[in-house]
Amino acid sequence: MLRKTTQIGIIDLNRDDMDCKNCSHTYDGKFCPNCGQNSRANKKLVFSELVNDFFDNVFNVNKGLPYTFFNLIVNPGMVGRAYILGKRKRFTNPVRYLIIAVAIQAFIDYWFIHPELTEQPDFFYFSFLTERINDNMAIWNHTLATKYAFIHNISMILIFPMAFLVLFKKYGFNFTELLTVNFYYFSTGLILTISTILIFDQIIMINLPVPFIIMVTLGYVVWSNMKFFDSVSFWERLLKVVLALFIFMIIRVFFVVYVLSIIFPVI
Ligand SMILES: [Zn+2]
Repeated sequence: MLRKTTQIGIIDLNRDDMDCKNCSHTYDGKFCPNCGQNSRANKKLVFSELVNDFFDNVFNVNKGLPYTFFNLIVNPGMVGRAYILGKRKRFTNPVRYLIIAVAIQAFIDYWFIHPELTEQPDFFYFSFLTERINDNMAIWNHTLATKYAFIHNISMILIFPMAFLVLFKKYGFNFTELLTVNFYYFSTGLILTISTILIFDQIIMINLPVPFIIMVTLGYVVWSNMKFFDSVSFWERLLKVVLALFIFMIIRVFFVVYVLSIIFPVI
């Protein structure tokens, strides 16, 4: 630790007091209690510090991201409940986590798997609808998944929390809490899905069928929410989470594409 020489030239041998370079507050410790800046910033700027600072501010990956991701894999219920209860500093902020996940998806989509995705126009066939509407729906489904992936993903995240707000009303969670938790779960599902596709596509060299890919994402979202509502009896939460999944599927594979096909027919 550097000994600070005060302005009148007396060396204080007992404390490591320093003046914060950001707000001039005098303190002793790892972080400035006034503005929160790390005391590392009081030393001379070195390149490693610049890199650290970038990751701290932009991605918060130093400790937060791997820790958050790991815990969302092994115990997603704990992460969700801990965050709601105010144990937040240890986890990557959920909105930041979501943005990172979507960025990873966009990056990998662009560099590795975009051609394969565009070559798969197969979609559900609804026999009670005309051929033309079915064709339009297949095209719209594909357009949503590729061209409007970001907006589409973001809007899809709203469905689970809205369904849970109604289904688990008596447990007193508000919409923001359920949305926040699902930011974590949806993002982790996205990262898991992307990793699965990438591993199969690039290493094992197998082109995964679309239903399998959807199962990875939704499987995780169902499982993580089951863990989150731990205090609810098993059958009740299984029934309600599966019901939410069903509502999600209806909206995702039918309602949205059907409405778009009717209002904006492509062919
Ligand atoms: Zn300060």
